[in-house]
Amino acid sequence: MELKVLGSSSSGNCYILDNGNEALILEAGIRFADVKKALGYNIRKVAGCLITHRHNDHAKYIKNMMENGIHTLALPDVWTAKQLTDSRAVAIQPNKGYKLGRFKVLPFHACHDVPCVGYHIMHPDCGRVLFLTDSCDCLHLFPALNHVWIECNYSTPKLIEAVSKGYTLKRQIERLPNSHMELDTCKRVLSEHDLSHVQEIVLLHLSEQNSDREHFISTIERQTGKVVYAAHPNMTIDITKY
Ligand SMILES: [Zn+2]
Ligand SMILES: [Zn+2]
Repeated sequence: MELKVLGSSSSGNCYILDNGNEALILEAGIRFADVKKALGYNIRKVAGCLITHRHNDHAKYIKNMMENGIHTLALPDVWTAKQLTDSRAVAIQPNKGYKLGRFKVLPFHACHDVPCVGYHIMHPDCGRVLFLTDSCDCLHLFPALNHVWIECNYSTPKLIEAVSKGYTLKRQIERLPNSHMELDTCKRVLSEHDLSHVQEIVLLHLSEQNSDREHFISTIERQTGKVVYAAHPNMTIDITKY
């Protein structure tokens, strides 16, 4: 099983878990033509698509998913905001389990500036995945994870520096702590989890202005002793459970 990153930032998010026969799409923030290409033009293998929240960098192309016959899971807030009704639109309830092919998914509450969920995903080929983005904290504890894909959007020193240089609007100093995950929070969330079975940590949704890719990777590597990546477009990671 592979994780393919099509986009992981405020300019568009999409990830695909794919074992060749079965695939799961996370987020619909990338043009469907690019998603199709990444699937090798085989849409029939897609078991479903999971959406975290209504912001366009995550849900802009949600309609294309359903037009292509893909069952799509999202909060009722997303369906209302996008004014979509479709037999393939599934209005999810946090903490309720869903089955998509051999994928078992559990949405749980995230902490963002609009209603948002993270997902716990299980598949026999990759084991247990934690997927959490656009969330200033993680309110749940997940045991025996095999993969952790978590937002690491900004660090406070980088944010202050970017504001002082005029790269970032001052009001982000108020907004970000309540909507996106800071490096120290990411460290704390990881320290609270048992990482002994974790194969890799993927940092998601890094801010262009308010983050430092290399520093974030080395900080998390040093703390966890795990293989750490910062997601970027066209990145592919083998996530087969060993
Ligand atoms: Zn976002
Ligand atoms: Zn968002």
